[in-house]
Amino acid sequence: MLTNDQIDRWDRENFFHPSTHLAQHARGESPSRVIKTASGVHIEDRDGNRLLDAFAGLYCVNVGYGRQEIAEAIAAQAKELAYYHSYVGHGTEASITLAKMIVDRAPSNMSKVYFGLGGSDANETNVKLVWYFNNVLGRPEKKKIISRWRGYHGSGLVTGSLTGLELFHKKFDLPLAQVIHTEAPYYYRRKDLNQSEADFVAHCVAELEALIEREGADTIAAFIGEPVLGTGGIVPPPAGYWAAIQKVLKKHDILLIVDEVVTGFGRLGTMFGSDHYGIEADIITIAKGLTSAYAPLSGSIVSDRVWKVLEQGTDENGPIGHGWTYSAHPIGAAAGVANLQLIDDLNLVQNAGEVGAYLKKTMAEALADHPHVGDIRGEGMLCSVEFVEDKADRRFFDPAKKIGPQVSATLLAQDKVIARAMPQGDILGFAPPFCLTKAEADKVVAATARAVKTVL
Ligand code: PLP
Repeated sequence: MLTNDQIDRWDRENFFHPSTHLAQHARGESPSRVIKTASGVHIEDRDGNRLLDAFAGLYCVNVGYGRQEIAEAIAAQAKELAYYHSYVGHGTEASITLAKMIVDRAPSNMSKVYFGLGGSDANETNVKLVWYFNNVLGRPEKKKIISRWRGYHGSGLVTGSLTGLELFHKKFDLPLAQVIHTEAPYYYRRKDLNQSEADFVAHCVAELEALIEREGADTIAAFIGEPVLGTGGIVPPPAGYWAAIQKVLKKHDILLIVDEVVTGFGRLGTMFGSDHYGIEADIITIAKGLTSAYAPLSGSIVSDRVWKVLEQGTDENGPIGHGWTYSAHPIGAAAGVANLQLIDDLNLVQNAGEVGAYLKKTMAEALADHPHVGDIRGEGMLCSVEFVEDKADRRFFDPAKKIGPQVSATLLAQDKVIARAMPQGDILGFAPPFCLTKAEADKVVAATARAVKTVL
């Protein structure tokens, strides 16, 4: 029988944790948190603490924890066939069925799914696909990718470059030269307080136009964006943003990659964020909600237009030289089929929309008048609260005070509710599983109000 001390020591001595202050953890200054079990919206640690997970892991356990239907589908697949590759036309019933289920749910111009393992590798695939696309079309100069400041698209070399957050660039020599960034559609943080939403959209469009003009449209392959900025602060776009941006991209023949790793499969109360905002993507990135994180799986859904050029490319050049050993892994695919079925059976997309709207409304009722709560925003089952030193001029707190992390730690300590201190700015993020009830939303709101009062 392993003791807690032994596990803690092994953890400190052997486990290289992602996104962690390594030195503090190795010195034992931040405790090891060992999660043992979970059910619904709750996780339980080894000491029996039951925590309400209002961030669904890393906004991925969309159907909630402990779903036996998915566990059984995984077990059945592992017993029948744990692995075979998907190269040169191979597949499994699970991977083929899942591709069909995804295309059936995706916007109508979408054609095929390329499977990967996580959101980062899917976006890596997307960049390669748009480069391939332009090479086949005889436009080898058209390669740069435009991303937004505050966007999050992964942690790899290209995807960490696409990500527009300082933490993911500094000391890694990123971004790479092929990636250029434009204005975030972050209305609360507009520089000119007199700007209406419509004026701010016009400003974002003008910034994009100026960037394209500077770089040359014939050097730009694609624009990538999340329907709602996620890790950058949970920021829904101002009204009309996507229609206006898409007009510019079409004018300059720039492809649109819509990163739906967070929003795909229901988080905004519609099957895709693209449906919610009327976006017509050339490629859609999916991951997290595809399997609700019961197994790692991601995908790039490509449009008819892109697909036709890829096909032409292979007729001219032979097989496409891009593949992962674990593309369309049967266990991930089986989890995906069971997960999408469950989302339909339990009406979870609708619940995400309804309970998400309730969460945002009650959060606003509880906190809008607080002198240090600058903004409360969200869409569907995504919500965030932004703290400011001064409400009138939206002044930031001194970053050394770490207000966001303090509120999140207090929320956990006082009421055992997990919300995420977003990595840039004093922003507390909520992205609960879609099965959250209104009573659970009430608990999250009351606990948050208490934590805010304690810290501020
Ligand atoms: N894209 C978005 C919008 C994400 O939020 C994330 C992860 O949070 C990723 C891509 C990267 O996904 P992964 O961490 O699975 O590589």
